[in-house]
Amino acid sequence: MLSEFDLISRYFTRAPRSNLHHIALGVGDDCALLTPTAGKQLAISTDMLVAGRHFFPDAEPFALGHKCLAVNLSDLAAMGARPLAFTLALALPAVHEEWLAAFSGGLLALADQHQCELIGGDTTKGPLNICITVFGETSPGQALRRDAAQPGDDIWVSGTLGDARLALAVYRQELGTELNADLALGSDTFILAAARMHQPTPRIALGQALCGIAHAAIDISDGLVGDLGHILARSGVGATLAVDSLPAGPILSQQTQAIRRHFTLAGGDDYELCFTAPAERRDAVLAAGQAAATAVTRIGSIDAGHGLRLQDAGNNPLNLQLASFDHFLST
Ligand code: ADP
Ligand code: MG
Repeated sequence: MLSEFDLISRYFTRAPRSNLHHIALGVGDDCALLTPTAGKQLAISTDMLVAGRHFFPDAEPFALGHKCLAVNLSDLAAMGARPLAFTLALALPAVHEEWLAAFSGGLLALADQHQCELIGGDTTKGPLNICITVFGETSPGQALRRDAAQPGDDIWVSGTLGDARLALAVYRQELGTELNADLALGSDTFILAAARMHQPTPRIALGQALCGIAHAAIDISDGLVGDLGHILARSGVGATLAVDSLPAGPILSQQTQAIRRHFTLAGGDDYELCFTAPAERRDAVLAAGQAAATAVTRIGSIDAGHGLRLQDAGNNPLNLQLASFDHFLST
């Protein structure tokens, strides 16, 4: 059986990387030491993932390692911050080396993609619980805050929405005959949707490309309507959303309009960016999307009103009972 310290050194300690000049001291001392670029602000965020609540206890460990870091990097993306480093607090029920090797493999592979180094943490025995804190940097005044949306802004979303929620619905058997038959557990189509749920892509390059262009941004973890609602509340503005212009994921696109609308609006686990930008910066937003190789779609506009109004393709008001959707699904 590995000791706590053997475990840390085998799975979570790596030789210093010569290209990461901002890490003055990594895993192994009482604190790590970070050197942010002179004049920059630190952006810091923590996300905890609890077995049975945020992921299935038997989740595939490589994908789980990826996802734990991805959801944290997504918060940096939503501020337009550049990732620097992260810490990992881990409660493990037991030491399973195969599990640890796969988990740290998925975690560190994504870390390397974003040059975001694991610099410390804490390891303890307990119910499986994974808590990551990420550190990034932004230029003063450039971070994409939730409270910065302005009347007249366009509302945009990156990538596509809803495929992760669709995969969850299949796992939970929430939808019966309404679903296309080829979405059975384990089918190729299902596996594509499930990949969105298990291995989300943090939109780091897009977030940085939008600095100086976008006003407000948030990453969509709990569903577009709820998360956009945070921007509206913090900015003191209202909005109209063109529901049928929302970019549904490729698998969700093949489902009925009712499922498409609900899962694009109130899905969850999308980890796309929802952001606002002045209408006169449309070309700049599209160029930022291209530079970041990430699709961006205009989905509505901010106004001086109150709350969120939904419209269909003919600009007619839509009154969808999103909060009771689970009830709707169980019929
Ligand atoms: P302390 O007793 O000072 O809290 P620990 O014994 O908990 O230190 O940890 C020893 C070193 O290993 C520290 O540098 C800590 O940051 C690091 N560490 C502990 N757990 C992890 C982990 N899961 N991932 C990365 N580093 C870790
Ligand atoms: Mg400790």
